[in-house]
This record gives sequence, C-alpha cells and structure tokens, in this order.
Amino acid sequence: NKQVILKDYVSGFPKESDMYVSSNGTMKLKVPEGSNGIVVKNLYLSCDPYMRSRMIKNKAITGNYYIDSFKPGSKGDLVWGRTGWEEYSLITDFQNMFKIQHTEVPMSYYTGILGMPGLTAYAGFFELCSPKKGENVFISTASGAVGQLVGQFAKLLGCYVVGSAGSKEKVDLLKNKFNFNEAFNYKEEPDLDAALKRYFPEGIDIYFENVGAKMLDAVLLNMKAHGRIAACGMISQHNLDKPEGVHNLMHLIYKQIRIEGFFVFDYDHLYPKFLELVLPQIAEGKIVYVEDTAEGLESGPAALIRLFSGLNIGKQVVFITQE
Ligand code: NDP
Repeated sequence: NKQVILKDYVSGFPKESDMYVSSNGTMKLKVPEGSNGIVVKNLYLSCDPYMRSRMIKNKAITGNYYIDSFKPGSKGDLVWGRTGWEEYSLITDFQNMFKIQHTEVPMSYYTGILGMPGLTAYAGFFELCSPKKGENVFISTASGAVGQLVGQFAKLLGCYVVGSAGSKEKVDLLKNKFNFNEAFNYKEEPDLDAALKRYFPEGIDIYFENVGAKMLDAVLLNMKAHGRIAACGMISQHNLDKPEGVHNLMHLIYKQIRIEGFFVFDYDHLYPKFLELVLPQIAEGKIVYVEDTAEGLESGPAALIRLFSGLNIGKQVVFITQE
C-alpha cells in the first residue's frame, strides 16, 4: 500500500521534497468488524490548490476550518498506547496514543518504565502520596513494573524505602539493583505484622498498595498517624471468585489515614512532566530498569500468565519484532 506522506507542516511555497512516497510492504488494510468502513482502491489522484491549506497546522492563519489538516509524518512515527495484541493495529481513536519523541532508549521501555506502568508509579506516588524527604515508604509487589520505579522515586527523594516481593531473587534485586533500604520475601514471613514492625519500628508514612488483602491488613496496623495509602492494585484478588476481606479498616480512622484509589488513565496529562523527570534520570543511571522478555507474539499468553504466578522478574514484555 503505497502512500504519499507529508514530512512536516509547510510554510511558504511547498516543495516536492516536503513529501515522500512510502510503501507499507505487505500490510493489508482491514475494516474493523462492526464498522461501516470500506477499503477502496484509488484509480486517479486529484491535485487541487486547497490541499495546500491542509499542509499547515494553525488554521487560524488561513481561516480554513472546513477541512482537517494532514497529519504529517504519521507513517514511520513511533507511538505507544493501548492496542490489541497483534502485529498490526488499525487505530481510529488517537486519544490514547502517545507519539514517541525520545528514541535514545530501547523502544520496549515504552511498554514499561516510559509507558503506562511508569506513569502509574509517577502519578500514584507523587500525586496521591504527597511524599516528603525522610518519610518511611513501603511498597508491595515491589520488583514489578510499577513497584521498581516507585521505590526508586522514593529513594531519590530521600525516603527510607522497604519493598516486599515473592522470591529471594526479587528481594536481592530490590536491595542490590534498585537500591531499596530493605526488602523481604512475604512468602517466608509467617506473620506480616511482625515483619513490618521489624522494618518500620516507627511506622509507615506511605504505603504503595499493589497486592491487597492480608498485606493491606498488616500495613494498616503499622501506619503512622496521617499516613497515605495509594491503592494502585490488588493483584492477590484478581483471580478470586470472592474477594478476601480486610479487617483493620478502623485504623484509617484511629490514625487519620488517607487511602485513595486511582486509574492511571486519568493522569495522561502528566505524561510530559513525567518524561521530563524520568528520562534524564535513566540517562544518568540514577534510575535503572529490569524487564523480563519473551520472544514472539505466540509467547504472549504464557507471558501474561506468568504475572499471576509471580514468575516475571521485572516488567514482563513480549518482543514481537524489533524492526
Ligand atoms: P508486576 O510486574 O508487579 O507483576 C505482577 C506481580 O504481582 C507478580 O510478579 C507477583 O510478584 C505479584 N503477584 C501475582 N499474584 C499475586 C498474588 N496472588 N498475591 C500476591 N502477589 C501476587 O505487575 P505491574 O507492576 O504491572 O502491576 C503492579 C500492580 O499495579 C498490579 O496490582 C496492577 O493491577 C496495578 N496497576 C494499577 C494501575 C492503575 O491505574 N491503578 C495501572 C497499572 C498497574 P511477587 O513475586 O512479588 O508476588
């Protein structure tokens, strides 16, 4: 499917070199099921003066409001966003797509540290937890895509940071790679309350909640007065028919704790600010990132399932193609 592509918005006299011809190779255009769309084969192209007014961004200049501007460079651009699990996706809603401007990092980072999980860590920690230097921070599921970044943000801010994870390898990663002050394997702790008291003799200021149930119950017993809890996820509850109960909610009142759930999708507007903070820190090695990769679209289902048995070490990602 060959296309003529506008390289960038044009000022002054348009040149032939403002455009180029590109080929999509073997990619086939497919109309989404249930849509009224059609695919047509074009036999002739019309050249019209009005097309020049579609080559500018600011329509106020020409007063042309009756037809959309072209989207320059949309072929060949790198984007990340929510798509199907497929080799090619037909995108009709651009609201949830982000153009990738920074290509000096591995592109897979945009599925994790520079994508949705990264923004989750940023929004959940900075927007919901009101963190301050020197505070005590606890993170569950701490070595995963979200947790590893929350912990590093907290460390860079000068907090005391402890994480829990489900294996020795993950605990080592938290302490030695992500620079957490302490970490423990919750599966080897018969009494979570006692474990938290060991690591937080003075209590917890901030809890970044990824797991729910028993851990949340134990944390509530160990929160300080005016503590904050970002309810990010409760992965222990995803696969249960009947959610487990939480018993210590009275402590929200006793200690005047603020607990708040959130959806990352409500924080898309913070993405540029988040990138501004995190990109230099990655470049300077102040923030590190661990991903667990699987090869090929076919390995997707198995890779996804690994999350729920805790087999992933770091962000689970599937490489479809690296072209
Ligand atoms: P992770 O990379 O952390 O992978 C999932 C991990 O969860 C597993 O490795 C395992 O770690 C742990 N886990 C799995 N099953 C259980 C269980 N039954 N009990 C306890 N722990 C379990 O995932 P993400 O970083 O992508 O996500 C972390 C959390 O953040 C999830 O709860 C997710 O739903 C939430 N989230 C919320 C968003 C929002 O908008 N609010 C957006 C994105 C994520 P371990 O070995 O340590 O047990």
